Amino acid sequence: MSKRIDGARRAARIVHALKCPVCGNPVHIEDDGRLLCMENHSFDFAKQGYVNVLTRPAGGHYDKELFEARRRIMMDSGLYAPFHKAVADLVRERSLPSVMPGVLADIGCGEGTHLHRILQQLSGMDVMGAGLDIAKEGVQLAARDFQDAVWLVGDLAQSPFADHSIHVILNILSPSNYEEFTRMLAPGGLLIKAVPASGYLRELREALYSDKRRTYSNEETIGLFDRHFRRTETIPLRYSVRLDRLQLEDLVRMTPLSWSPDPAAVKAFLNRDFAEITVELDLLVGEPGDW
Ligand SMILES: [Zn+2]
Repeated sequence: MSKRIDGARRAARIVHALKCPVCGNPVHIEDDGRLLCMENHSFDFAKQGYVNVLTRPAGGHYDKELFEARRRIMMDSGLYAPFHKAVADLVRERSLPSVMPGVLADIGCGEGTHLHRILQQLSGMDVMGAGLDIAKEGVQLAARDFQDAVWLVGDLAQSPFADHSIHVILNILSPSNYEEFTRMLAPGGLLIKAVPASGYLRELREALYSDKRRTYSNEETIGLFDRHFRRTETIPLRYSVRLDRLQLEDLVRMTPLSWSPDPAAVKAFLNRDFAEITVELDLLVGEPGDW
């Protein structure tokens, strides 16, 4: 079966969780690999197996090289392995619907490795993953390599997800839209948001910058979460991973931290055989507030 038709068939399994991003009506999946609503708004699955539901072109800072660097380091180094396990454990604790697959949506999925790794740990559960990102270059890589989720290029502000249809929202190091999250979540649904804590990639910040970018506070982000969602749990993850020289290069390439550092500082940072890199993430777990 072609990746295109295969991708469309996966989407058909969660078609109840999708809506037309133009008119908001329910959609269905045609056998020829199209997502179609009753008003005839139509979106073709691409040959890689994803569907682009953007209603207007999106500009972005990301490029293919960045996503490829991120993919390599995430697949090879274990940089996020404890994080993936923690998220999978949280999802496993939830009761998901038994009559249809539970839907786990990664909002801001990038090149899809986080969602893929988390789904691997949930094998045996009746759960379907859906990854949404506005960056086509990321979603293309996801669909090319991971046939275990529905991959969508789209804008969270013009979401392709239906009301109260998503059982778990993942939002990993990526912007939030709490009104949309509240609308999308099914009764009893859960938002898991990963935010960097002050020591996240500390060694990289300290090596590349001499200014305020060396430190980071997530207080504002957490405050915003708490204004919209009822936080039921906070899981602090603190660990370090040893990266070799090639992985350090990928780390510099993949992170927005590196958009404008001093080239001499980058060179010095990379001039070593390995380094211990600190990962500090806070997992904020919450339910929609009463509003
Ligand atoms: Zn429509």
